[in-house]
Amino acid sequence: MSQAPVTRFAPSPSGHLHVGGARTALFCWAYAKGRGGKFLVRIEDTDQKRSSGAASVGFLKDLAWLGIDWDEGPEWGGIGGGPNGPYFQSERLGTYDRLLRMLVDQGKAYWAFDTAEELEARRAEAKAAGRAYRYDGSAQMALPREAVERMLAEGRPAVIRLKCPPQPITIRDEILGEATLPAGEVDDFVLRKADGFPTYHFAVVVDDELMGVTHVLRAQEHFNNTAKHMLLQDALGFRRPSYGHFSIITNPDGSKMSKRDKDKLLRKTVTDRKLAGPPAGTVPPERWSAWLGDKNAQLDFAEANALAEALGIQLPEINVDDFRRSGYLPEVLCNFLALNGWSPGNDVEKFDMQFMKERFDLKRVVKTPAKFDRAKLLSFNCDAITGMPRDEFLHRARAHGEEFHPQFMARLAPAQFEQLASASQERSKTLDDMFRTNRFIVTADDTLAWERSKNVEKALLGPAPSGLDHVAALVPALESVADWSPASLEAAIGAYAAVSAEGNLGKVAQPLRVAVSGGTVSPPIFDTLAILGKQSSLARMRRCMAAFGR
Ligand code: GLU
Repeated sequence: MSQAPVTRFAPSPSGHLHVGGARTALFCWAYAKGRGGKFLVRIEDTDQKRSSGAASVGFLKDLAWLGIDWDEGPEWGGIGGGPNGPYFQSERLGTYDRLLRMLVDQGKAYWAFDTAEELEARRAEAKAAGRAYRYDGSAQMALPREAVERMLAEGRPAVIRLKCPPQPITIRDEILGEATLPAGEVDDFVLRKADGFPTYHFAVVVDDELMGVTHVLRAQEHFNNTAKHMLLQDALGFRRPSYGHFSIITNPDGSKMSKRDKDKLLRKTVTDRKLAGPPAGTVPPERWSAWLGDKNAQLDFAEANALAEALGIQLPEINVDDFRRSGYLPEVLCNFLALNGWSPGNDVEKFDMQFMKERFDLKRVVKTPAKFDRAKLLSFNCDAITGMPRDEFLHRARAHGEEFHPQFMARLAPAQFEQLASASQERSKTLDDMFRTNRFIVTADDTLAWERSKNVEKALLGPAPSGLDHVAALVPALESVADWSPASLEAAIGAYAAVSAEGNLGKVAQPLRVAVSGGTVSPPIFDTLAILGKQSSLARMRRCMAAFGR
């Protein structure tokens, strides 16, 4: 096809944008953009029960965050619009109805009044006789036109079905190759549901044509639908787009990456730790045992997050928004997602969106499922963060903190935040790390509690001079430090260690870290003290001594 390609991403907005969907969008985007074409977004919200307006906005926001912008589609944040709208299928009902009427008038489709019970009975009959069930529309097609009109006027529930010619259908897929369905495999499927909405099959075919889509690139689960879509294109006299279907992305064990993975981890943690009931403010007690006992039960988003937070665990990310909250960078996520099913060759693994546009090609897309390697994603993210200019890190970490940790941010002065971020960059695998691991910084001095772990005890207790002895001796030593900067603190503490710890700074730094943070992990100790400030640092050291019996 010599024409510049037009691709589209057409999500049904229920829930959140899954990484699999994001990868489909990315591939569609790269394919079109790299060939001077157009990438379009269309919201397939004709399933009234499953779609929600909020979810559509969430999808658009996730795409925009990833840097996958659309040339045509819903207007959002300065992106979108276009001559072929509206881009929400629920706003295109008039168009579908017009074409449906045309098909019925031409005798290519027909009204069918079968009730759910009648269809069920026929299905059961076929099953009992050991036959594959195929819808038989002969009785409905034989209804005289006047009878049809009368029943419709009476408001009898009815659907419109396509008259499918009994012919073999060959699907040509640019990724999967060719497959032929024998004649009669596709029965007269529904184009318009009894609620007046078009089915997915009808709306997708109509919109792809009217929006000028040349390449339908989508998830493999739709491969079998393609035969139906081709029959419809023929009935409507539409052009045939090219097709390509992407394999799924799975967990490393081959299981589907699903929201359930979060519940699975939560249930396992709760069981391993033998929790008697839900931590306060997480899951309502009356639902706790039912959730715990049913491996298919799911907590809602807020409950799952609250429970994970109370347990101090990180939930597996599944949707784009989960990765964003966890502090992954959009450009890293795109790079990594692209490698799930495609590779540019020559062992090139790290690339940006520009490279994707220039190099993405269906020929190098694999047919087999891609395994999602979280460790690799984390290492890509870590490389990108640690390699980023300091100012950029400050800027991105601040934006992340303001969005996801507003209370943390509100308790820090701008200078303190900069100090913390500067001290954290080198050790950050995600933008979230510095907030998650440094809660002690924004904990009030008089509520800081000390971990009762082996490592904490090892740092503080033991033969004289113990860690706690050093902390006690450092209180007066640090009281006299006037300029509370990392450099002055280093000088004062270094001088103390030279005299009282045989010059072994580690013997002094670790007890100090525990004293001011409550645990064994913090940014470098001089930075930590500087960020906390003189008053807080000294107050914590004194409280620590009291807490351990001084
Ligand atoms: N709305 C469909 C989905 O979300 C789109 C399928 C297609 O791309 O044709 O799976």
